[in-house]
Amino acid sequence: MERRIYFDNAATAPLDPRVGEAMQPFLRDHCGNPSSLHREGCMAREAIETARKQVAQLVGAEPSEIVFTGSGTEADNLAILGLLPIERLPECHLITSAIEHPAMLECCKYLERHGLPITYLPVDQEGKVNPIDLERSLRRETRLVSVMAANNVTGTLQPIAELARIASEHGVLFHTDAVQAAGKIPLNVRRTPIDMLSLSAHKLHGPKGVGALFVRQGLKPAPLLHGGGQEGGLRSGTENVAGIVGFGRAAELALAEMTDDAARLVRIRDFLIESIAKSFDNAYLVGARYCRLPGHICLGFAGQEGEAIKLLLDLDEQGIAVSSGSACSSHHAGQPSHVLQAMGFDATRARGSLRITLGRFNTQAEAERLLEVLPQTVGKMRSITSLSRAG
Ligand code: PLP
Repeated sequence: MERRIYFDNAATAPLDPRVGEAMQPFLRDHCGNPSSLHREGCMAREAIETARKQVAQLVGAEPSEIVFTGSGTEADNLAILGLLPIERLPECHLITSAIEHPAMLECCKYLERHGLPITYLPVDQEGKVNPIDLERSLRRETRLVSVMAANNVTGTLQPIAELARIASEHGVLFHTDAVQAAGKIPLNVRRTPIDMLSLSAHKLHGPKGVGALFVRQGLKPAPLLHGGGQEGGLRSGTENVAGIVGFGRAAELALAEMTDDAARLVRIRDFLIESIAKSFDNAYLVGARYCRLPGHICLGFAGQEGEAIKLLLDLDEQGIAVSSGSACSSHHAGQPSHVLQAMGFDATRARGSLRITLGRFNTQAEAERLLEVLPQTVGKMRSITSLSRAG
């Protein structure tokens, strides 16, 4: 098989073989339903509770504060829809940012249609929310503030500690979508007044289709699913035991290896950013230079933004998988990124970013291979651009 280089870890990160090993017995041998009282059931229940501890430790929570869900999207929906009373939406107020993932923004649009007033905080050119804007936007009716910990397109980190502190000082609940940040940067819900935090296993080398919401003790979001009352009544449905076990192991590994992984990824990331800046006079970095996720690069090539998808496909042909903006963009191909537009990019530039995201299994040699391939690929695009201009 062709040896490929995978630089799209923000879309999904490959399963760590150690996670696969932990899941295997629950896919193959242990068939119990965790709600059953027999030995098989108890074994599944114990495995879930171990995973709950492992996921809780990743963010400094108590195990009883972790609710397993079917995805990061579901965790975001549970936080927002669960906390805002549908029958009194026009009397409430929600503050979020303009650059959230669609898992949040589409939820917001749904609530707006039902009468909820929402303030979308702007971001600066680096894609960062200014805490002063939050302070100014708070109202007496504000029920909830939700700002993501790290952006999935740019990798820019948000000043979560400060934003959470401001919300807490005003007696307003604070949720953060930490789907991209968890396992990559330290997060602690005891040191920061975070009330709810969303996670997704597949972004930290765990399995797809399992997420979690940290819900601070005492908070009671209304469930989205009604049924058998699993997960303390917050998420009915027989649990995805193998997936949850895998999530637990992935969280444990991420916590144990975070410092080393991050240091190594920052070195490769910075090597790539600096080398690309030297080799291409029209290359520019999208997002903050340093205040970004360890393995995250988002780039543009000035004047060639219209060719970003062709660039991606050409790299794909050369065996290198990168992304344009976000994985969701395949559903919205050719549309400008709402994140880049919020950062002040015009529609053409907002269509043309290239996202290179590194994970635990990427190496310096792979980064060097990208640098070998890139000049030829970008060169090809240059000639396409000049030909189309001439035409
Ligand atoms: N939030 C952010 C910031 C994301 O990047 C993603 C996935 O790309 C999600 C939420 C959705 O997570 P999931 O794929 O588990 O539904």
